Amino acid sequence: ERLLEVKNLKKHFQIAKNVSVKSVDDISFEIRRGETFGLVGESGSGKSTLGKTIVGLQHSTAGEILYNDQNVEKLSGKDKKRVNREMQIIFQDPQASLNPRMRVGDIIAEGIDAHKLLKGQARKDRIYELLEKVGLRAEHAKRFPHEFSGGQRQRIGIARALAVEPKFIVADEPISALDVSIQAQVINLMEDLKEQEDLTYLFIAHDLGMVKHISDRIGVMYLGMMMELSNSHDLFEEPLHPYTQALLSAIPVADPTVVKRERIVLAGDPPSPVNPPSGCRFRTRCPFAMDICAEKVPEWREVREDHWTACHLYNN
Ligand code: SF4
Ligand code: MG
Repeated sequence: ERLLEVKNLKKHFQIAKNVSVKSVDDISFEIRRGETFGLVGESGSGKSTLGKTIVGLQHSTAGEILYNDQNVEKLSGKDKKRVNREMQIIFQDPQASLNPRMRVGDIIAEGIDAHKLLKGQARKDRIYELLEKVGLRAEHAKRFPHEFSGGQRQRIGIARALAVEPKFIVADEPISALDVSIQAQVINLMEDLKEQEDLTYLFIAHDLGMVKHISDRIGVMYLGMMMELSNSHDLFEEPLHPYTQALLSAIPVADPTVVKRERIVLAGDPPSPVNPPSGCRFRTRCPFAMDICAEKVPEWREVREDHWTACHLYNN
């Protein structure tokens, strides 16, 4: 069952007269109720911009975001408030996203206060309940963010998101800034909370290894466009797009029973999203590029059941 549908979404940032960064450029996909959708791409691929646009932190340039079949950018009044509450975001850097001068309890209650959900003792009790839900303690409510470790701060960010009883959470690289030793703890917490609170996640990460085990489906972005999308298993076993194949070949294989893929080294850096290459955006780094790749943008097509890609190699 579909919870969210993104249709031909574009988000361009104008940086000078007639110059714009095409951060998100014509992306279409859906997220199903209850799933964890992993979104992967190098820095600058537009994945954070996509996440922020979906939750309404910025307005799209074109296209539609449908949440429960309603265009979220056209809502007003009560409906808009409800959707704003149901869609929450957790940021990469818990340090930067928590106000250093606010006590943790008030930080967690930001959404509760903004939506006027609770006050007085009920508000306090809810803060304590949320702290415990994320593995912290009631007495932590009086403290300030700097008194906590990076992992604890991310737990505070998660509690803040949960406070308004969301249904859908965009997690924008929630573990990338954390020590490797505590990344798994935060992931486990997020997975437990997903079950307890019936959540749906859009989980953004910069590498495939990070989302493999938690994602039901995965989308791969490159220079503002979606290159491939499928269930997690098929993406790893039968990647279709040359970019996905290159990303997979770069993951170190720790398990000796897994066949090591031949390493595909991509030439150069990704081109600028101000002036993306004509045709297929990946063509300047693709080992299989053909003439047509410079001439025509490859169509976003369902090549196999529930397995989408945009590449001229799969045109027939
Ligand atoms: Fe490579 Fe062409 Fe496919 Fe792009 S469309 S990934 S350049 S083969
Ligand atoms: Mg980012």
